[in-house]
Amino acid sequence: MIIKPRIKGFLCTTAHPLGCAMDVQKQIAHVQQSGTIAAGPKRVLVIGASGGYGLASRITAAFGCGAATIGVFFERPAVKNRTASPGWYKSAAFTRQAHAAGLYATNINGDAFSAELKQATIDLIKRDLGQVDMVIYSLAAPARQLPDGSLVRSTLKPVGEPFEGATIELNSGELRSVSLEPASQQEVNDTVKVMGGEDWELWMAALLEAGVLADGCMTTNYTYLGSEVTWPIYYHGTIGKAKEDLDRAARALQVPLAAVHGKAYVAVMKGLMTQAASAIPGMSIYLSLLFKIMKQKGSHEGCVEQTTRLFQNLFNGDALQLDESGRLRLDDWELQDDIQAFVKANWAKVTADNLMEISDFAGYRQAFLQMHGFDFPEVDYEAEIDPEVGMTLAFGA
Ligand code: NAD
Repeated sequence: MIIKPRIKGFLCTTAHPLGCAMDVQKQIAHVQQSGTIAAGPKRVLVIGASGGYGLASRITAAFGCGAATIGVFFERPAVKNRTASPGWYKSAAFTRQAHAAGLYATNINGDAFSAELKQATIDLIKRDLGQVDMVIYSLAAPARQLPDGSLVRSTLKPVGEPFEGATIELNSGELRSVSLEPASQQEVNDTVKVMGGEDWELWMAALLEAGVLADGCMTTNYTYLGSEVTWPIYYHGTIGKAKEDLDRAARALQVPLAAVHGKAYVAVMKGLMTQAASAIPGMSIYLSLLFKIMKQKGSHEGCVEQTTRLFQNLFNGDALQLDESGRLRLDDWELQDDIQAFVKANWAKVTADNLMEISDFAGYRQAFLQMHGFDFPEVDYEAEIDPEVGMTLAFGA
């Protein structure tokens, strides 16, 4: 079949296997060019390993540190005329590349919130790796199924006050205004349940109890603070409440992890185009402005540049530089005064007419397309391609 992007709202319902493999290939190349991180972990579990920061972390661990990796994700293989999800194609490509490089890489596809999947992961670690040195929790999920079968949903809403903003239509480049009423307390609680620290704690408790965390094991989770202009919808919104809960969970985890001399860290990452970020109201304007100025200043990074810098900080032997809340800061370049001054000065000026000049909407749109495997100059999108790409899974289908 010939696969083209099919965009609906902020979603693209198709993905291209060769373009997704190209994305993985480019990330691997960046890690290899950045040099070996010799003191890095050698056995790594990544929860949320198929997209954005999780996939980039897995690539850095494998190709920067030579680590054996187990990847947990929730992705969809191709069926009939429907392509697989981008994360499926990228995980398949990563696995092929890791195996070709002589690295262990095994995948688990299913609901990471479930006790069954946690047990399957533990069984796999015991069978193949014995223990893990690092656990990267990089899940971004819209909903969580609880053990009683009920489904809790996360929302992206302001807290306390309504939100008025705008979003850019990916297809037309038109601006559409967005008005959101403040979240109810139930919506705040539900978002914390899905995206807060509880499931991270459950994972670590299960892994610890099973004896599969190596002495000195480190675990990380990712958060975002961002700019004042996005605080009303992000940091001060429902998702921000969930992110505050990660800081609580990181502190709480120090206690049980002491049994294995382990540590838990929250890392503050840069705002980037990922599946999860593309759904946040107002984020398209912010990221388009951010990309414009960071590219101009030569400080723009993608996910893999960020995770590689993170690993270099974590494993270079120096004392870790933490902020007053104990977090690692990889958003330092994003938050530099000159970068934020540009964003703030242009935030209210963006219109459909000047979008292409004052912002990097073209780069934002390209990042969106490339996330789905499109718009890579190296790929022939007119060629027939089989959408079915196989991947061996240790659990799931
Ligand atoms: P993403 O959408 O690219 O990846 C999410 C991952 O979670 C995928 O691997 C997906 O398969 C997996 N997943 C979702 N639901 C699952 C489930 N029920 N079971 C198993 N796997 C599941 O997201 P991302 O943007 O890389 O986000 C990862 C983390 O990074 C999040 O905590 C996010 O808040 C944080 N972060 C993102 C940004 C950004 O700008 N994108 C910035 C800072 C921090």
